[in-house]
Parts: sequence; C-alpha cells; structure tokens
Amino acid sequence: MGVMRSVLLAASQSTFLRERAMRTRFVRRATRRFMPGETLEDALAATRVLEGQGLPTILTRLGENLESEADAAAVGDHYVRAQERLRETGLKSEMSVKLTQLGLDLSHATARANLARIAAHAATIGRRVWVDMEGSAYTQATLDLFREVRAGHPNVGVAIQAYLRRTADDLEALVPVGAAIRLVKGAYDEPAAIAFRSKREVDASYVRLAERMLRPDALDAGVFPGFGTHDERIVAHLQRHAQANGVAKERWEFEMLYGIRRELQSKLAAEGHRIRVLVSYGEAWFPWYVRRLAERPANVWFVARSAFAR
Ligand SMILES: Cc1cc2nc3c(=O)[nH]c(=O)nc-3n(C[C@H](O)[C@H](O)[C@H](O)COP(=O)(O)OP(=O)(O)OC[C@H]3O[C@@H](n4cnc5c(N)ncnc54)[C@H](O)[C@@H]3O)c2cc1C
Repeated sequence: MGVMRSVLLAASQSTFLRERAMRTRFVRRATRRFMPGETLEDALAATRVLEGQGLPTILTRLGENLESEADAAAVGDHYVRAQERLRETGLKSEMSVKLTQLGLDLSHATARANLARIAAHAATIGRRVWVDMEGSAYTQATLDLFREVRAGHPNVGVAIQAYLRRTADDLEALVPVGAAIRLVKGAYDEPAAIAFRSKREVDASYVRLAERMLRPDALDAGVFPGFGTHDERIVAHLQRHAQANGVAKERWEFEMLYGIRRELQSKLAAEGHRIRVLVSYGEAWFPWYVRRLAERPANVWFVARSAFAR
C-alpha cells in the first residue's frame, strides 16, 4: 500500500484535522467534486439531473460513530423523512446507511431497531435499503445484524469487501439468504493478516467473488448483485462474463460514486446496463472525503489546485 494512502487513511481519523479542514473554505469547495451539497435537498436536486440521464441514485447521509441513543434515533428519523421526500417527488432513489450511524456502538438492539424502522418504511415506497460495510471491527456485527433484520425485511441489502480474506466464506453463507449484495473492494486500512493488500490480489478477489454472485444458484436463490467499482478492467470483464453466461442485464447492476468516472457511468447506461450513482450529502463529510482522496492520491492535487481557484 502506498505511503500516501496510509497517511490519508490515518488523517481521515484525526479530530484535529477534521475540525480545521471543515472550517477551511477551499477544502469545502473541493468537496463539491464528490458531493453535490450538504443537504438532502442538494442530493435530491442532483438526483433529478442524474435520473434524466438514465442514472438513478442511492443516497447516503454522511456520519459515523454516533454517541447517544437520541443521535441514532435522529438519524433514523432523517432517513424516514428522506424516503418520504422520495415518495413526494417520485424519484427512484434508494438509501444506504452505516450501522454505526444508527447506534451500533451503543448497542446491537439500537442499530437493529433503527434499521428495521427504515426498512419497514422503505417497503411502503417499494425501495431497497443498503447497509454499508465499515472497518473490520464491525464486519461480523454488520453481517449478524443484517441477517436478523433481513429475516423480517427482504428489501435490505448489504455490502461486502473483496479485500477481506474472510469475504469468500461470508459470501457463501449469504448466498442462501438470497439478498441484494453490493460488492466493493474496501475503503479502510486493514492489516495483512486479515486483508489482501496489493491491488493485484484485491482485484483477483473481486473478480472471483463477482463471478460467484453471478452463478445460477446464487441468482436463483434471489441474490441481486450490485458491483460497486469504477475499475474499467473489472467492469469490462463483468460485462463479458455476464453475457457469456446468459445473465440478463436486469438481474444485476453497477454502482458508482457521484463525480467519479462520469463518462463510464453514462456509457454503461447507454448500453442498457442498470447502474446507480451513490450520492453522499451531510455535514460530517471529512473522514469520508479523505477516504476518497486515499483511493486516488492524484485527487490530492485536485484539492490543492482548488485552493487557488476562484
Ligand atoms: C457504490 C459504492 C458503494 C461503496 N460502499 C462501500 C462500503 O460500504 N464499504 C467500503 O469499505 N467501501 C465502499 N465503497 C468504496 C470501495 O470500497 C472502494 O474504495 C472504491 O470504490 C474504489 O475502488 P474501485 O473499485 O473503484 O477501484 P480502484 O482500483 O480503487 O480504482 C479503479 C479506477 O477507478 C478510478 N477511481 C477510483 N476511485 C476514485 C476516486 N476516489 N477518485 C477518482 N477516481 C477514482 C480511478 O481511475 C482508478 O484507476 C463503495 C464504492 C462504491 C462505488
């Protein structure tokens, strides 16, 4: 792993840097490349434009590791309100949530109740709710809680990370559940004992897992694969693989982040692929934003340039 990536991932955890960066105007401006704004209405406005281009969205409010039951309940309220806005506007978005935002650090029961409430409400508008996967301290709890809530709410899906060595086994256990599964490479700094560290190994793991998700037994069990990646080589491979194996385009989707590889997003939509764009919004953007920089240190120069832009 590059030094820059390690430094940035460490910086993403720093309270000192977070407090300073969030007050700095040029940093706030540079975030606009990756998020349309801090409010739900900003995200809905961006969604309207993207839907017009054949790119429905997944919305997520930034924020992690809350400290009180009241904060976690307020996040639950927010997502229910956001889904009400989807009902009012007719936009096709789905929501994606982090369990630490719903109170996982406080208690399993708090996060479970908040997720179940959001999922129950999402079902009333016919939408899915995605559960993001966070750092490895939360992997088991996230999968356990996902299963518990999924038992009563089939519209819940979960993310899994190709860089974790355990994920092949986790996927085998998830296949019979027949859920929507988002496969991503993984965005945190995990040790070699539990994670593949080189791009080559992570990519190979991603392809193996993706092909597993597209196998007939998985699809027949109800698995809906969401491939969260901007990696053109992998995207092309999956297109070829699905076609060669007769997997129809409606049975799976690509998922990409707002502002990243925009031409590829449009090209896939034009080719008739399902694709969703994940739009983040909210005031707690610092750790999330620095993880985006870590994924592509060249983005740091983009931020630096923004410092001098008008
Ligand atoms: C929809 C979605 C949901 C996600 N959910 C989670 C989650 O729940 N948990 C989790 O750990 N991670 C999540 N991630 C992040 C993911 O783990 C990766 O960190 C991220 O997607 C970068 O990996 P990549 O697959 O795009 O490939 P990479 O190998 O990192 O990149 C491939 C190419 O894509 C482009 N690219 C990638 N990232 C950027 C960027 N930031 N800026 C500009 N260009 C870029 C570059 O051209 C790069 O060469 C999610 C990603 C997506 C798209």
